[in-house]
Amino acid sequence: MIRIRGNVAIDLGTVNTLIWVAGRGVVLDEPSTIAINSANGAIVAIGSAAESLAEKEPQEINVIHPLRDGVIADLEATAEMLHGFLRKAGSPGRLRSRALVCVPSGATWVERRSVAAALEARRRYTVELIDEPVAAAAGAGLDLGAGEGGFIVDVGGGTTEIAAVAGWRVVRAVSLRMAGNAMDEAVVNAARSGLGLILSQRAARQLKVELGLTGGQAGWAEAVGLDAARRTPRIEKVPGDLVATALEPVVAAIGRTVQDVLSDIPAGLAEDVVRGKVRLTGGGALLPGLASRIEEIAEIGAIVAEDPLRCVVRGAALMLESHRADGLAGVSA
Ligand code: ADP
Ligand code: MG
Repeated sequence: MIRIRGNVAIDLGTVNTLIWVAGRGVVLDEPSTIAINSANGAIVAIGSAAESLAEKEPQEINVIHPLRDGVIADLEATAEMLHGFLRKAGSPGRLRSRALVCVPSGATWVERRSVAAALEARRRYTVELIDEPVAAAAGAGLDLGAGEGGFIVDVGGGTTEIAAVAGWRVVRAVSLRMAGNAMDEAVVNAARSGLGLILSQRAARQLKVELGLTGGQAGWAEAVGLDAARRTPRIEKVPGDLVATALEPVVAAIGRTVQDVLSDIPAGLAEDVVRGKVRLTGGGALLPGLASRIEEIAEIGAIVAEDPLRCVVRGAALMLESHRADGLAGVSA
């Protein structure tokens, strides 16, 4: 294993960005958020500091999630955010150091190319873009270097990437635009129609995390929102089954897509998939009850990978260290 100082692995996710630096490990883990002063275009904050302003609507401040739906909706904001993160990570790029970047697979070739170009214009990295499911698989413990194949379900914010992988490549993959954000929206809608309570996405996300599909410990959780009729703040005990019912269509869509992709894998991969099980990665993998619901729908064993929020960046780091990236996504810059 050759370790070159200055090499970085970046998971540019729709909700979270993580940066790993050779010799230092994961040095940055922050929301993919940037706040911009709409009057003069200046950057007000990035990452957690920007996210804490989201949905609070301070005057003249635009809080942007530049990758929200799994596409790079705002390239300039994405580039500014990445530069800010790299500065914060203390990683200026050395001559000939490599940056391995995972972008959502919904991003177009032009968008991918632009991210790489933006990084190269202001940093000295050689940028390579890699397929997210392959990085997730490596980070989820599959021994891709030994020829092991497997099946990954990466439940992020904007998209769920469902893929069979082998030989450091994607075998079959579908990117579903239904993941954590869609779950949050489903909870917002259910609270509004079922309880007359208007929730922020942040409050809905908390309910999702706490109650999931299982109702959590208590079977209910408290949430603060606005009363839909009076528009004044209200505290409410939200029942677990309201949240579970709201989440079911999103989870069912994920489960059915897993089934579809499974039904299309080559026979030679079947044994690896059954033995290794479907590995759930991404933040959505932590949804209480998700693995067993997917087992039910797709009729195959499913397990949550260790530390699922970091699988992609960990896998990218492994690829970097084993020199397994060259031109993998066909867009090395
Ligand atoms: P991305 O790769 O798109 O940035 P992540 O893998 O970082 O996404 O996952 C973010 C998503 O995971 C968000 O929708 C977040 O609400 C969700 N999430 C994080 N923790 C949990 C949890 N404990 N239960 C359910 N969902 C979670
Ligand atoms: Mg991700």
